[in-house]
Amino acid sequence: MTKELILVLNCGSSSVKFSIIDPIKEVTYIDGIVETVNSVTSLIIKNFIKNKKLFKKFDKVESYKKLIILIFDILIDQYKNYLNNVIGIGHRVVHGGEYLKKSMIINSFILSKIQESSIFAPLHNPFHLLAINVALKKILKLKNFNVAVFDTAFHHTLPKESFLYAIPYHFYTDYSIRRYGAHGINHFYITKQSSIFLKKPIFKLNIISCHLGSGSSITAIVNGKSVDTSMGLTPLEGLVMGTRCGDIDPSIIFYMVKKLGISIDKVQKILTENSGVLGISSISNDFRKLEEKYNINKKAKLSIDIFCRRVSKYICGYSSLMCGRLDAIIFTGGIGENSSLIRYKIINKLSLIGCFLDIDKNLKNNKKIMFINSIKSIPILVIPANENQIIAKETYDLVKKSIL
Ligand code: AMP
Repeated sequence: MTKELILVLNCGSSSVKFSIIDPIKEVTYIDGIVETVNSVTSLIIKNFIKNKKLFKKFDKVESYKKLIILIFDILIDQYKNYLNNVIGIGHRVVHGGEYLKKSMIINSFILSKIQESSIFAPLHNPFHLLAINVALKKILKLKNFNVAVFDTAFHHTLPKESFLYAIPYHFYTDYSIRRYGAHGINHFYITKQSSIFLKKPIFKLNIISCHLGSGSSITAIVNGKSVDTSMGLTPLEGLVMGTRCGDIDPSIIFYMVKKLGISIDKVQKILTENSGVLGISSISNDFRKLEEKYNINKKAKLSIDIFCRRVSKYICGYSSLMCGRLDAIIFTGGIGENSSLIRYKIINKLSLIGCFLDIDKNLKNNKKIMFINSIKSIPILVIPANENQIIAKETYDLVKKSIL
C-alpha cells in the first residue's frame, strides 16, 4: 500500500461522503457514505482493495457533529491500516467567498473566512465547518494537514463583465455581492479530462462543461479557464434544478412578499426547496422518476422539457464566448452521465452551433468517458464527475509542500 494517502471528506447537508485515495496513482481504496433518511442513519463503506462492503444501520443520529464523529470512530476502529498512511485530509468546501481563491491548508484564519462565506452558502459551509473541527480534534497527527478545496475557486478567473451584477456597484465593493459560481472542483476535473481525451493542452482548450445533477451548473471555459458560469452569488441562480428555481425575474419575490403576504423566509424555502422540476411536476426532484412518467404525465414531461430548454439556451449563449472555437461540449453529473433522453433533448436544439448526436452512442451507459457525437458534429463527451481526485491531489500537493 502506498504510504501517502489522502482522506477526502465531502459533507452535504443530508449526506456525508468520504474516501481514502492514492492521489498519485489515482486509486480509491475506501469509499463511504452516511445518510439519514426518515428515522434511520445508514452507513455504507466499500473497501476496493479487499472487495468488501460494510453496511450498518443506526437509530437516527440527531446531530451533524455526532455523525462526523461516528465516521471517524469507524475509520479509526476498522480502517486503521489505511488511516495510518493518510498524510492529509481534504475537505470540499462549497463557498470560499471573495478571499479564498485557491485550496488552502486550514488554520484559524481560513476557518474564519469559511465562516464569513457561510452567509452565501448557509446549507453547506456550516456543515463543512463542523466536519473540519471534528477532523482537527480526532486525528491530532494531521492537525496541520487539513486542506480546504473550494467549489468557487475555479471560477475566480471570471472577468468582471461576467461576475458583476447590474446593481449599484457599491454592493460589490462594500458587500462582495457578485457571481461566485459553484461545482468548480468538478468543472476543473472535466477540463483536465477533456484535455487528455481531446489531446489538447489545457491552456488551449475551449469547452462548455454541463454539470447536470440534483444541483446543476454550466461553465464556459476558454483557454482552460472559467470565463462564465451559471450559478451566481449562491447555487440558486442559473439552470432549473431538482428543487431550485434557477433564473427567475426577481420581481416574483416582491410579488410573493408584498401581494401574497408570504414571509421572506418562506419565499426562500419555496425557491430553494419546493421549486425546480419538483415544483413544476409536483411529482419528484428525482429525474429518474420524472423520466419514467415522461410519456404518461404532462407535468413530468413539462418539467423535463423546461429543464432541457434552459440548458440548450445556456450552451448556445456560452458558445458566443468561445473566441471563435468550441472544442467540445461535456455532460457530467448524475443526469448528464446517465440520462440519454435529457442529453438527446438538449443536443437536439444545438444544430445551429454544429452539435449533432450519434443516437446509438448516446444510448450507451457504461460509466466511462465516451464520445456521443456524430461524425459531422463537434465533439460531445460524457465524463463521469470526480471531485475526489481533484480534492485528493490538491491536498497532497499542499501537504507535501508544507512538509518540505
Ligand atoms: P448528482 O447530484 O450529480 O448525484 O445527481 C443526482 C441526480 O441524477 C438525481 O436527480 C437523479 O435522479 C439523477 N439521475 C441519476 N441517474 C439517472 C438516470 N439514469 N436518468 C436520469 N436521471 C438520473
